[in-house]
Amino acid sequence: MNVEQLDADILIFGAGGAGLLAAVHAHEADKRLRIVVAVKGLLGQCGCTRMVQGGYNAVLNPADSLQKHFEDTLRGGAFLNDQDLAWTLVEDAPKRIIELENRLGCMFDRNDEGTIHQKPFAGQSFDRTVHRGDLTGIEIMSNLRDYVLESDITVLEDSRGLDLLTSHDRVCGALVLNIRTGRFMVVRAKATLIATGGAATMYRISSPSLEKSGDGMAMAWRAGARFVDMEMVQFHPTGLLVGNSIATGGLLEEGLRGAGAHLFNGLGERYMSTYDPAKMERATRDVISRSSYFEIAAGRGTPHGGVLIDASHLGEDFLLANFPGMVERCRTYGFDLLHGPVEVSPSAHYQMGGIEIDVHGRTNVEGLFAAGEDAGGVHGANRLGGNGVADSIVYGARAGDTMTAYVATAGLQEISPAQIHECIEEWSRSLTRDRGENVFALRQQLEDLMWRTVGIVRDEAGLQEALGALGSLQERGRGVKASGDPAFNLEWNEAINLANLHVVAELVARSALCRTESRGAHYRSDWPQSNPEWLKRICLAADGHGGSTLSLLPIDFGRLTPPELADAQPAARTPP
Ligand SMILES: Cc1cc2nc3c(=O)[nH]c(=O)nc-3n(C[C@H](O)[C@H](O)[C@H](O)COP(=O)(O)OP(=O)(O)OC[C@H]3O[C@@H](n4cnc5c(N)ncnc54)[C@H](O)[C@@H]3O)c2cc1C
Repeated sequence: MNVEQLDADILIFGAGGAGLLAAVHAHEADKRLRIVVAVKGLLGQCGCTRMVQGGYNAVLNPADSLQKHFEDTLRGGAFLNDQDLAWTLVEDAPKRIIELENRLGCMFDRNDEGTIHQKPFAGQSFDRTVHRGDLTGIEIMSNLRDYVLESDITVLEDSRGLDLLTSHDRVCGALVLNIRTGRFMVVRAKATLIATGGAATMYRISSPSLEKSGDGMAMAWRAGARFVDMEMVQFHPTGLLVGNSIATGGLLEEGLRGAGAHLFNGLGERYMSTYDPAKMERATRDVISRSSYFEIAAGRGTPHGGVLIDASHLGEDFLLANFPGMVERCRTYGFDLLHGPVEVSPSAHYQMGGIEIDVHGRTNVEGLFAAGEDAGGVHGANRLGGNGVADSIVYGARAGDTMTAYVATAGLQEISPAQIHECIEEWSRSLTRDRGENVFALRQQLEDLMWRTVGIVRDEAGLQEALGALGSLQERGRGVKASGDPAFNLEWNEAINLANLHVVAELVARSALCRTESRGAHYRSDWPQSNPEWLKRICLAADGHGGSTLSLLPIDFGRLTPPELADAQPAARTPP
């Protein structure tokens, strides 16, 4: 087969905040570097960084401090965070804000005296969320896109990474599919970055952009990368319910509840008074999502299986001035946020777990780097609003710096034609076989299964069921048939998406079964309490023989000791 080949110093998968900051930093460090960004959608138009509404957390005010931001991040993460990663996040976040404004031309909202305006977000001891109205992501992505277009960085749009290619246990490039033409391309690279933004779309109701299907995580898994904290999936409490539309799960931002919006069940009761009477609708995302889940499960939901958010008492003028994007979004789908309640549901939003990295964005695999939502460890058991985009920008930049130094001494490797051939064969199978199952039906089964058994509330029976069912779904997924020719074949691409989602879903379910306690976003109805013995991180790794191992990693509490360790009670059941 005639396969196009491209050589690069640095190959980046994903053009969100993480991927593009890496490209910018590498390019700024050495303009001679051949940098290739492969992106599944269009530059500047895809991924979740563009969807960021609320903003970016950074310590800018002298009355605030890095220590406060760090402690907020650890408390939010229920002390499961890798403390070095969390500290690096808070330490670098202000530097990157300056860079976004001064090097890239972003303009964030200002106070009257000219300083950057910072707004409150849940879980913060100081107002530190930098924003541009409620369209912060568009401001960041538009300027990043302009930088890339003005540079000589090569961008492969509508091009998806399929698999990493290796030589002597080292990643030395990847197989890429040009979605438009249906043709394969081999990109050889000295360093490869995975920044494809996670896989929360494996759930029936989810908020991320739909082209994200865990591709980067699955590619890294197949190449031998270690994963941490995979059980930790964040559900945002207020995703819109728009029937079978793909708009279902799209968010009404947290600021609405912060400003005083109320939540009601289907009986008209303000149910947060049962679950968190002190904080009510200002409780953290995990608490509210769980409370809504319990109400819906108890039959007190709305006819469409949700709850109601009502902001109308805040007044039309206030809502139009402060949440124009949310008002408009509701109006688009026929809801009137200004004058009455809107039906919402918890929505799978963000993966705290991911590829294990160090503070430089290095993975355990030579030549492979990771950043942003694909990487795990920064946020522990729960991510604070505003720390997600900061993570992508901070760790994207760090990975760019690290890869620049790395490629100075690394060379391009020969990739065996047999490996490339095998890879192409594997990914073409659904297209070339005569008949097979319908991929869209299987995708729905996966989403329903994950929602029901590995979702907001989990237990052993459900997780065992999930693992069994995932095994058979994976098997059936290998037999799907995609009709038509390879060019712009959505059915074929969905078959590839599904294969990757299955890989990530299994990692989530396995970790969730292992953690016999409740912590942060991970809630086990059969183990509803947190257990200090479980202040350990779950690590999954391929064993090199087609299987995998699960181990527990101790956490270094050198920077901050969790309060629960101080008054630890004897555990009911200690982790293995
Ligand atoms: C609606 C919404 C609102 C949010 N609001 C906030 C907020 O206010 N504050 C905050 O901190 N966080 C927020 N987040 C979270 C934040 O968006 C993410 O934490 C962050 O943007 C992730 O950045 P990333 O670069 O890792 O991934 P993304 O920005 O999602 O980029 C992933 C990129 O990978 C590409 N890709 C996927 N698969 C492949 C493949 N196989 N090959 C090549 N490319 C691929 C995608 O096309 C995309 O370009 C929000 C998320 C959502 C969904």
